[in-house]
Amino acid sequence: DLEKEGRVSLPRYVRINTINTSINNVIQQLESDGFVEVKLDHPVSLERYKSTILNLEKQQFLQDQDFPDVLILPHGTDLQNSSLYDNANIFLQDKSSSLAVRALNPPPGSFVLDACAAPGMKTVHLAALMENKGKILAVDMSSERLGTVKEMVHLAGVTSCETHCADFSSLDPAVEPFSSVEYILLDPSCSGSGIVNRLDYGSSETSAPSRIRKLAWFQKQLLSHSFTFPNVKRIVYSTCSINQEENEEVIKTVLETTKDFALEEIIPQWPTRGLPEFDFGSLCVRSYPEENLTNGFFVAAFQRIQPCIEELS
Ligand code: SAM
Repeated sequence: DLEKEGRVSLPRYVRINTINTSINNVIQQLESDGFVEVKLDHPVSLERYKSTILNLEKQQFLQDQDFPDVLILPHGTDLQNSSLYDNANIFLQDKSSSLAVRALNPPPGSFVLDACAAPGMKTVHLAALMENKGKILAVDMSSERLGTVKEMVHLAGVTSCETHCADFSSLDPAVEPFSSVEYILLDPSCSGSGIVNRLDYGSSETSAPSRIRKLAWFQKQLLSHSFTFPNVKRIVYSTCSINQEENEEVIKTVLETTKDFALEEIIPQWPTRGLPEFDFGSLCVRSYPEENLTNGFFVAAFQRIQPCIEELS
């Protein structure tokens, strides 16, 4: 049990799928299932907020003060038998993992490439943010895992998504449809060292130096490739790792190779930022179990600073 091991027990986060339902409908459904909403009259400090979350009693829930489409329930709350879950009106998604999509923030109607999409948790969130308008190309190199994306997309009521089985680094950015991509979400394989509930959390296996080195090399390859898409305006890089080698060091290396892109400050109200030993640290977002009551997570966003081909013509 996590508490016995001295680890924080994370609350149960629910993201409301605003394609299939509304925030109010989900709140009403929870209330008719016997849950009681705890209301905060006004925004409170992070410490007060954390203590409110940690003191939630069984069957109580709270609307997140950062993101209204997120509800928070006590650790261990089982919603997998609820009709809300069955109908994909809610997703059981840690709050930290939604930060990447919020940072990319593609407007409705845009063309987004989700470069490492499976199992599709962020794909369906992207579609909700885009009000199901525009186009999402969900790419993954595993056809089996891409099958899960297709199921997820179908269940979530997403009609704006196509799937494509490929190695992202082999996509030719000069040819359609890739040449028209405007936004890229890059959420590549990582050590997962930020995931609290993993059985190997904190083990030497997750963070062996040779494994991290290989992952970081591959993460840099994919991120550099995303810079070659001629019409991309914003790129978000995210990991559920807390290792600096997979996060700030990846950003630092690729930044040195580009004149076309710069880091952009994301989610300014988020209190925990990238590591201060990097001069760009404060532009990026980090999340931590103890500080934010979420899994460990890292997000950075790049925006194009040189005009893209379409703008020049
Ligand atoms: N974004 C997903 C979500 O929110 O549900 C999670 C992505 S998971 C961390 C990483 C995924 O990247 C895996 O499904 C893996 O198959 C895929 N992947 C790894 N290398 C890839 C590559 N070179 N091209 C495309 N997909 C890749």
